[in-house]
Amino acid sequence: MNTEFNLNELKAADRLPSPSGTALAIMELVQQSDATVQQVSQLVKVDPALSGRILRFANSAAFGARRPIADIQSAVMMMGMQAVRNFALSLSLIGNNSKGNCSGFNYDAYWSRSLATSVSIAAITARERTVVPEESFTMGLLGNIGSLALATAWSEIYSECLAAAEGKPLLTLERERFAIDHDALSILLLADWGFPAVFLDALKMSFDSHVAGITRIDQFARQMILARLIGNYCVTEEADRATLLPDLTAEASLHGLDESALLIFIDETIKLWQEWGTLVDVKTDVRQPLPTKAADVEPVLPGLDLLLVDDDPMMLARLSKQLVAAGNKVAVCRDGESALKHVIAHKPQLVITDWRMKPTDGLALCKALRASAFGKNIYLIMLTSTEDEDALVEAFDAGIDDYVTKPVSLRVLLARLRAGQRIITLQHELEKESRDIQRYTVELAAANRRLKSMANTDVLTGLPNRRYALHRLEQEAATALRANQPLSILMMDLDYFKSVNDTLGHDVGDQVLVHAAKLMRETARSGDIVCRLGGEEFLVIALNTDGGTALALAERIRCSIEENQPQGYILRHPVTVSIGVAGSMGAKPSWKELMKCADDALYLVKQGNRNGVQLAEEVESGK
Ligand code: GH3
Ligand code: MG
Ligand code: MG
Repeated sequence: MNTEFNLNELKAADRLPSPSGTALAIMELVQQSDATVQQVSQLVKVDPALSGRILRFANSAAFGARRPIADIQSAVMMMGMQAVRNFALSLSLIGNNSKGNCSGFNYDAYWSRSLATSVSIAAITARERTVVPEESFTMGLLGNIGSLALATAWSEIYSECLAAAEGKPLLTLERERFAIDHDALSILLLADWGFPAVFLDALKMSFDSHVAGITRIDQFARQMILARLIGNYCVTEEADRATLLPDLTAEASLHGLDESALLIFIDETIKLWQEWGTLVDVKTDVRQPLPTKAADVEPVLPGLDLLLVDDDPMMLARLSKQLVAAGNKVAVCRDGESALKHVIAHKPQLVITDWRMKPTDGLALCKALRASAFGKNIYLIMLTSTEDEDALVEAFDAGIDDYVTKPVSLRVLLARLRAGQRIITLQHELEKESRDIQRYTVELAAANRRLKSMANTDVLTGLPNRRYALHRLEQEAATALRANQPLSILMMDLDYFKSVNDTLGHDVGDQVLVHAAKLMRETARSGDIVCRLGGEEFLVIALNTDGGTALALAERIRCSIEENQPQGYILRHPVTVSIGVAGSMGAKPSWKELMKCADDALYLVKQGNRNGVQLAEEVESGK
């Protein structure tokens, strides 16, 4: 994952999914340390829709049977302020993002799948009691928010990405285009919205499908994997569901569910999902469609797609016939109100409207169109029976682009339409240009981020390199000092590595390095920073970790390398590692001294039998 991605860049564009209204107020309130249940309840009560949903949430069967809860304050008390906050946040995001401009992105299917995942994770955590279901629910609902964010922020480019993803994995394409993928972006966004780090660690583990441990958080990660598979199952066509079952059954067996128990569980989940769909306005009848190819260029019609508005049926019939004969696509409406509806639904390029109509006249129609997002760029021609100066000024002030006097001369009207068409074409080109500029800016920013990331990454192992390691250690030492937290490092050096090169060649040496690096990364905790300093030397920065704990981590890594020998070669010495550990508390010792101490401890191991770990004693006592 690319740690160099800057969320602020996206935020500055102001096109990220973000909460609003009551949700925002609740988020701001809960952020204050002295916020009370009463205050939160008060805010919830102001919003009747939210109140109803919170009560339903608090009483949901998905969270196991409890005594019924009838008032908001008890609901907030029972759920906890954080869960209420996150629930309100989710609802607000659903409300604001049920539609969007990314043509290749299926918004309905997105929310439908998220909701199925979220109901399912709530039910799983209620059974297996790892985290409270009220909290896991929102993790399920928002766990894939990065996809929506990419669709929102870069709708057009993301549409292309989705269309191209048939041949290449989507995550890879996303990283190429945006220097970040939707998984990583989900985590960044949730962190930004204040979700607890342990949940995000679990989410990350679940994305990587790398869950080794047995802690509650590891288990939660496993549960997220299962919940996502079930979510996917729910939105898949009935006929295709059978193909998903082998994976699903295998995962479910890790949770003590055999196939028949799983199918019962899925049935219950589907019922809950449908109930919840009605409650929070998410469709549950959508089934995953095949990815559609986005059109590269919008078709430019030879004629115009126009709407003709007049309350005189004779006039409508005559004019529309002539305009169609001139090669245009013509729709007709008999008053301003139905014209407005037609424009919203069909987005014509040009509107020709009569002035005097009842109940909504042409002037009111023009004003309404100009005041709306969909109507502000439409080319408007007014048919008028007067050339009175005041009247014309009034019409131009209402937003018309041109006028034609009655009785209408077809030649003049067609000439005016051609003028309109020139403007429409220009406007079209301008919009395309601005979209292109936006795309170049995004690509440039992504290229810059990639360059930066390359400068910080070791090509052979994919781990952060020495440059990154030293810079990060310096930063983390300063952070630890400010927060008064311990910080430890592990200096690691493979044993007799030169003999691998000497006996089997440099290529095999490289493979052994990659193998060892992978084991180190997998054995370290998700928060540990594992880097390659160069050659066969590696460094782990263990945040908020004292020397003793770091020593245990070192021993786990040493063991893992000893026990997982690379397959397929006969080595003179088995691959083993020697590790020197040093921990600091506060300013003693500085990060440079820490490196030196770890190095000295490593030297001691090398002096002995190698394949061992050593804690730098003197550092611990702060001498
Ligand atoms: P010790 O147990 O004392 O650490 O012995 P060693 O052989 O591991 O240590 P030494 O530092 O003498 O040798 C390290 C070797 O690592 C020397 C160099 O040829 C090899 N090396 C350094 N970088 C790379 C690399 O990128 N790929 C490969 N294949 N070998 C490398
Ligand atoms: Mg060495
Ligand atoms: Mg060595």
